[in-house]
Amino acid sequence: MSRFLKEQYQKLEAYTPGEQPRDMAYIKLNTNESPFPPAPSVVAAMTARQVEDLRLYSDPTAKGLREKLAGLYQVAPENIFLSNGSDDILNFAFMAWGQKGALFPDITYGFYPVFAELHGVEYLELPLKSDFSINKEDYLYRNKLIVITNPNAPTGMSMDLSAIEEIIRTNPESPVVIDEAYVDFGGISCYPLIEKYENLLVVRTFSKSRCLAGGRLGYAIGAKELIADLEKIKYSTNPYNINRLTMLLGEATVDAEDYYQEKCREIIRVRQQTAARLRELGFTVLPSDANFIFAKSGRICGEKLYFELKKRGILVRHFTKERIREFNRITIGTEAQMEKFCNTVAEILEEQA
Ligand code: PMP
Repeated sequence: MSRFLKEQYQKLEAYTPGEQPRDMAYIKLNTNESPFPPAPSVVAAMTARQVEDLRLYSDPTAKGLREKLAGLYQVAPENIFLSNGSDDILNFAFMAWGQKGALFPDITYGFYPVFAELHGVEYLELPLKSDFSINKEDYLYRNKLIVITNPNAPTGMSMDLSAIEEIIRTNPESPVVIDEAYVDFGGISCYPLIEKYENLLVVRTFSKSRCLAGGRLGYAIGAKELIADLEKIKYSTNPYNINRLTMLLGEATVDAEDYYQEKCREIIRVRQQTAARLRELGFTVLPSDANFIFAKSGRICGEKLYFELKKRGILVRHFTKERIREFNRITIGTEAQMEKFCNTVAEILEEQA
């Protein structure tokens, strides 16, 4: 740290992204990426001409992609905001609407407290219930910025739409942000509620179910006024926040909806298979609607299992937070990868015995 850093950032603890080691070829089950490539039509959309056109700035209004997404969700283009990954949108949300403080669960996406600290937003981390579900009552009539991941991460567990609606309805004086990064793997989206509530922002990403994590593309659906707030911040920081190639690939992605739905069904199938196998091996596996499962063994501690898997070329995500340190979050890969994963876990357990 230099002596020039603004005082307010000196104590900031930055977010630690999942590791991306390059020392060997790992089976990467640690950052919830898709094991599948983008649709063939998306790959074909990238031409030499498109690369040459990089000399030109991208469209700051993202008109084409916005209209395509608006068509997909049957909303107006003014209900859609596009950004450089959904992290960008979450950052903007804390920046824009954190003045009365923020609430989110104690076990959820680890970036929320970092955004809160970054923007000087006071926040409370409300404990999940003992079964790791979100306690709806904690969020009623609070009128602070509320951020809920649904399905939650790293648990994978969904909250009922009726509970989400009650939270939105009882907090009319502040935005409720529902982060649906993983909703396509079996959750139910609450985006139709934007018609009814002007305080709802639904945040989505192309990084998981749309196989485009490296493209960095996220979007939000919400009331026009909320979207206008986000636009204001975007135009005050980085108007060309999405590069031309990503915008092009994003449009081709929306056109290839069938391909992605099929891949989601495949992930769900392999998730069920993997969870069943882990349960046979004595694991507790939380019910997941995401492209990962959260599991703990009674026979080996979470951290040890993480290291033993890494030694054998398989990466999963381990969190050191007290309540979840016995667990690992395991991204669902291809069927072959998950078979290798389960066999390796079985070997490790046998060696332990
Ligand atoms: N929300 C949640 C819950 C996530 O797990 C992630 C991925 N780490 C993101 C948002 C951000 O995704 P991206 O910026 O790639 O869209």
